[in-house]
Amino acid sequence: MAARVDHGVSSGTFSLDGETFEVENNIWVVGDDTECVVIDAPHDVADILAVVGDRKVKAIICTHAHDDHVRVAPALREEVVAPIMLHPEDRPLWELTHTRYLWDLDLEDGLEIPVGGTSLRVLHTPGHAPGAVCLYAADLGCVFTGDTLFQGGPGATGRSYSDPDLIVASIRSALFALPDETVVHTGHGADTTIGAERQGLGT
Ligand SMILES: [Zn+2]
Repeated sequence: MAARVDHGVSSGTFSLDGETFEVENNIWVVGDDTECVVIDAPHDVADILAVVGDRKVKAIICTHAHDDHVRVAPALREEVVAPIMLHPEDRPLWELTHTRYLWDLDLEDGLEIPVGGTSLRVLHTPGHAPGAVCLYAADLGCVFTGDTLFQGGPGATGRSYSDPDLIVASIRSALFALPDETVVHTGHGADTTIGAERQGLGT
C-alpha cells in the first residue's frame, strides 16, 4: 500500500501583535490506508478528522506555532492519542496560544519521521518563525512548507518573531537544494513547485 497525501481546508482566524485576521489553512495528511501523520492543527478538529478518516494518527507535526497552525493541536491529541511535534525555538509563539499544555516531542533538523512506508525529513527553516520547519517527502516528490514558502514567494515576516533575511537564507539553503520538480504543499492557498519559486526569487 503506497503512501499518499490527502488535503483539506479549515477556516478560522490568525492573531498576533494585537491584530486578528480571517484565514483559511490547508490540512495535510500523509500516510497509507492504516496510519498517517497530520501536518498542522488549525481551527477545527472535525475538519482534520474528516481527512484522517479511520486511520491511526502517529503524530501531529506543527510546521510552526502561529495560532492558526496549532490552535486545536491539544484537542486533536486528546482525540487521536498521538504526540504533538514542534521545533523548540517556537516555544514563545506556542505559549501565546497554549499556556496549559506543551507539545510532546521536539523537531530537529534532519530528523526522519517514518509513516506508511515513506518518510518525512525535517528541514529547519527559520525566518517566518524561529522554529519554522518544512517536511520533505522525497519518495512522494513533495515538501510541506507551512508558511515558509508560498506560491509567489516567501511567507510573511512583518510581525514579531519573524526575520526577513533569515527566511530567504533558509529557503535558499534548505528548499532550493531540492529538485525543481518537487511539489510544494503550502500552509495557505495553492501548491507550487521548487522550480517555479526558484525562478521567482531569482537564483
Ligand atoms: Zn504563520
